[in-house]
Amino acid sequence: MKIAIVTGGASGIGRAIATSLVARGDTVIVSDIDATGAEAVADRLNTLGEGKAHAASLDVTDAAAVTRLYQDVHNDHGRLDLVFNNAGIAIGGLAEELTLDHWRRAVDINLMGVVHGVHAAYPIMLEQRSGHIVNTASLAGLLPMPLGIPYTATKHAVVGLSLGLRAEASVRGVKVSVVCPGFVDTPLLADINKDLPDTTLSGDGREAIRKQPGGLYTADKLADDIMLGIRRNKALIVAPSLGRAAWRAGRLNPAAAARVTSIAVRRHRREHGHT
Ligand code: NAD
Repeated sequence: MKIAIVTGGASGIGRAIATSLVARGDTVIVSDIDATGAEAVADRLNTLGEGKAHAASLDVTDAAAVTRLYQDVHNDHGRLDLVFNNAGIAIGGLAEELTLDHWRRAVDINLMGVVHGVHAAYPIMLEQRSGHIVNTASLAGLLPMPLGIPYTATKHAVVGLSLGLRAEASVRGVKVSVVCPGFVDTPLLADINKDLPDTTLSGDGREAIRKQPGGLYTADKLADDIMLGIRRNKALIVAPSLGRAAWRAGRLNPAAAARVTSIAVRRHRREHGHT
């Protein structure tokens, strides 16, 4: 029975991770900026009858609040085994449409949110000489994904910080993995650029993504892949298999990958009347 914290646990991938953990008997702190959503998820998970769930209201951009929650969980349970720094938002649009607000929001939540989680969890795990930090990046953290470069930039940063930390942490008994999923069917893709100025990619992107090869993956299947990756202590958990193929192709032939992405950009510009 492990003690785990999941950020962004009220929805999508975080909720699916929390569900897998509780189903196998772990105790999970379901944290989210959406406190009501986190409560609802924890209440439902507590009916599963295996592990336990507790809800916590947490904004990952608030470093002090993140440290407080991680310390409290450690103090209350005597240890902290697993941390999923998962909360994130979607930003999309052509580079010339994006404002500094798009950039700042992406950096504050997708990058600094993970930094705050690592900064809070790592000292606890160093002292325990055990624990596993699992950060959620994206396939956009491994490939030159256009049409949302603040998102791509933050996810590359999360991959870099996770792999670098893993190299330092492994000799101190702490594990670090980074999750890089392709498109997953969650509310994230239904509200691109939420509360930010509109771009040609704002709003619900799910229908457009469904039409692409591979379509949308489910959060439950991804959670199974994540649990397997954790058991195997994988550095990078890349899923689904089509995502792994795209990642491999991008490494073998970066020029071809760049050509494919520029075709997608040209099509997007044409469809939205950008010359
Ligand atoms: P989601 O929108 O379903 O869930 C994200 C959760 O994060 C929400 O409950 C939201 O309230 C919470 N959140 C947002 N800002 C927060 C903040 N400041 N503090 C705390 N919680 C906050 O999205 P999801 O698809 O489950 O995304 C989870 C992670 O997976 C994100 O990091 C996302 O970038 C990544 N990801 C998603 C996809 C995809 O296609 N859905 C693909 C690759 C990576």
